[in-house]
Amino acid sequence: MPRIILLGPPGAGKGTQADLVVEKLGIPKFSSGDLLRMAVKEGTPLGLEAKAYMDRGDLVPDQVVIGLIEEQLRQPGAAQGWILDGFPRTVAQAEALDQTLEKLGQPWERVIFFDVPDEAIEQRLLNRGRSDDQPEVIRHRLHVYRQETVPVVHFYQKSEGFAHLDGNRDPAAVHADMMALIGNGIP
Ligand code: AMP
Repeated sequence: MPRIILLGPPGAGKGTQADLVVEKLGIPKFSSGDLLRMAVKEGTPLGLEAKAYMDRGDLVPDQVVIGLIEEQLRQPGAAQGWILDGFPRTVAQAEALDQTLEKLGQPWERVIFFDVPDEAIEQRLLNRGRSDDQPEVIRHRLHVYRQETVPVVHFYQKSEGFAHLDGNRDPAAVHADMMALIGNGIP
């Protein structure tokens, strides 16, 4: 069953594409952003801690996010495959993920990187209108992406299962590429 990691800048369309794969294959999507927003909404201590970081466009501390995602990966439902959206975002998260997956005996099969030029990203985020999609916060999130998450792309780039696609097209075209890559999973 497919185990897929999606990488790319904020607003690249990872969430939308993950949802399409979920619909088609029936595997769960684990989105750190969704999990954090849920915790914020429920007002849990974790949510209260995370909110300040999210409002500023900063990353929530590694330990918090790693814990959230590991909890999901250990659920029995995860044995049928999964798609990760928005995690890992730092090299420390990627290393922790590799260790967890090794322990579970469920290595990732595909890392798919969404290539989208900066200008297109800013426009997409401004159009999306989420509460953390204010111009200043958007610029900061892109800065954090370059500092913290581009190294994650390099971390995976040399692996056999790494693939990238042109994310700057209509969602149906991107989806077709995604399905081709997943169908062609390694191993
Ligand atoms: P997203 O929905 O993926 O754009 O995430 C929204 C916000 O949640 C980000 O700007 C971060 O503040 C936080 N967040 C989501 N995923 C992570 C992660 N893997 N590591 C740290 N912070 C995260």
